[in-house]
Amino acid sequence: MASWKLVQKTKQILEKERGTVYKPWGGKITVCLIYPNRYHVGMSNLGFQTLYRSFNSEDDIVCERAFLPDPEDLQEYQDTQTPLFSLESQKPLSDFHILAFSVSFENDFPNILTLLDLARLPLESRLRGREHPLVMGGGVAVFINPEPLSSFFDLFVLGEGEEAIEEVWEVYREAFAKKGGEDKADLLKRLAGIEGIYVPQLYHVAYGEDGRIESMEPEPGFPRQVKRRWVKDLDRCPTHSTLFTPDTELKGMALVEVNRGCPRGCRFCAACFVYHPFRSRSYSLLEASAREALARESRIGLAGTAVSDYRDLLPLCQSIVAGQGGISLGSLRLDNITPELIQCLKQGKDRTIAI
Ligand code: SF4
Repeated sequence: MASWKLVQKTKQILEKERGTVYKPWGGKITVCLIYPNRYHVGMSNLGFQTLYRSFNSEDDIVCERAFLPDPEDLQEYQDTQTPLFSLESQKPLSDFHILAFSVSFENDFPNILTLLDLARLPLESRLRGREHPLVMGGGVAVFINPEPLSSFFDLFVLGEGEEAIEEVWEVYREAFAKKGGEDKADLLKRLAGIEGIYVPQLYHVAYGEDGRIESMEPEPGFPRQVKRRWVKDLDRCPTHSTLFTPDTELKGMALVEVNRGCPRGCRFCAACFVYHPFRSRSYSLLEASAREALARESRIGLAGTAVSDYRDLLPLCQSIVAGQGGISLGSLRLDNITPELIQCLKQGKDRTIAI
């Protein structure tokens, strides 16, 4: 039985949202997309929002969301023995077929265990069976290094997940269609056949006394190295905000992703290498995305690893200003700043820029 107080708070959160997707569950694959931090933080995460839109665009998939409860709610969950539930339907996470964690920051790793515990699920993958949801993880913190989480996840999507996840759905649909489902070990082996999918149970990792990995042996038939996926044509995967709420860090702003990777190649920079190679979206697509976003919010945040290296940044900013929109840029390289760009950002009321 869920706490009335927690359910009421969830409904109040939903009332303030625009873009929420509600779908009936009957006969569909149910996925709970989880951000391992508070709602206020997670709802400004563009990757998280993109997955929500992408999963729900599949007719046979229902995707709902869950977040780390606020500290006062965490206490209420514990006091009332309420199992962690999703936002949209307030169903317990253990009722879903799949739990998909979107992990952007290493500091959130401990929260993943808190969330699994609140969901009343065994923490370790080996202790969960066919009767439990499949627990998968993706996001930049995971594909930089999934190993610290390897005991807790059934599988990881390494790299940019847009194309890999379509292949995961194809395999999962076959298992879902089988009467009584498919044995978890068999399903994981089939999923491990997809490029970019890492199933830790199929790899035997030996650690030295200093805690470093000494060896990593795959089970026969599986690759020694799991290749990271990356999307060759970013125009195939438009990435922009689709969910809006005043209860988030970047309220009043719609985010549009401009590019991934960076042409500069600084050796210390993880963002450059995990998103290699440098790719930008076409001007026509970004201009259309920004125009669409301006119908929802008055301010556009242009996101990307190397926004100021985008060839058409000035015309894009000018088109946003011409549409009466405000602009926000995460950061600018000093050698890319021109008087025209500064003038345009001034018109777009961008008041803080990291250089
Ligand atoms: S994003 Fe910045 S730090 Fe990273 S490679 Fe590009 S210029 Fe260097």
